[in-house]
Amino acid sequence: MFAENLEKIRGQIAEAAARSGRSADCVTLIAVSKTHNPEAILEAVDAGQLLFGENRVQEARAKMPLLPSRVRWHLIGHLQSNKIRQALPAFERIHSMDTLALARETNRIAGELGLFPKVFLEINVAGESSKFGFTPDALRAGMEELLTLDRVAIDGLMTIPPYAPDAESSRRYFVRLRELRDRLASEFRVPLPELSMGMSGDFAVAVEEGATFVRIGTALFGERRGKAWKPPGPEVD
Ligand SMILES: *Cc1c(COP(=O)(O)O)cnc(C)c1O
Repeated sequence: MFAENLEKIRGQIAEAAARSGRSADCVTLIAVSKTHNPEAILEAVDAGQLLFGENRVQEARAKMPLLPSRVRWHLIGHLQSNKIRQALPAFERIHSMDTLALARETNRIAGELGLFPKVFLEINVAGESSKFGFTPDALRAGMEELLTLDRVAIDGLMTIPPYAPDAESSRRYFVRLRELRDRLASEFRVPLPELSMGMSGDFAVAVEEGATFVRIGTALFGERRGKAWKPPGPEVD
């Protein structure tokens, strides 16, 4: 099941990349495994998928020791400041750096741990009050300081566009993220090579508009059933 879905999605990514004149190698597929159990993730690993996205630190940390060490993890959900210390050693990238205060605190803790985390700045492209992320104005105001952080490497931008049933509705938000990246890169003279955008419903459009990471859950694993996955047995802390 996973293997078939994976093959299909990879094909669709390659076609979309070709339409934008890029190679499929420019696009990294993150299998979003939140709520899914370790057995389902192992099936994905057996199909050749080694990179997974999780949105909760605790849930992800519970799964990690149950999976092969060659598996790599990205944090794609909101990071609470009291979880930074657990998150930093566990995730290869954090897609959800969403405030200046969080970035400062991440930088401080990374210094204590001797780490240099790679992060994307999450952008609230449509200014929705329900969403995490920098508004473009907040980002421009904070960018100078963000770039002085000596530990945190800002590699690009991430967004979750407003929900829409059709993929084409997301296109203008993906364009907006890419254009914001281009403006920041030239204004602040920093390379911001990565764009994390596109989910099950709209990843092909995101790739056409320049995504370098797509985050796909449902189209690979099927519908999510429950809430966070928890290890069986008594609660331990
Ligand atoms: C859950 C989630 C996804 C995956 O969503 P699907 O529609 O299931 O592909 C992508 N990005 C983020 C930030 C998520 O929380």
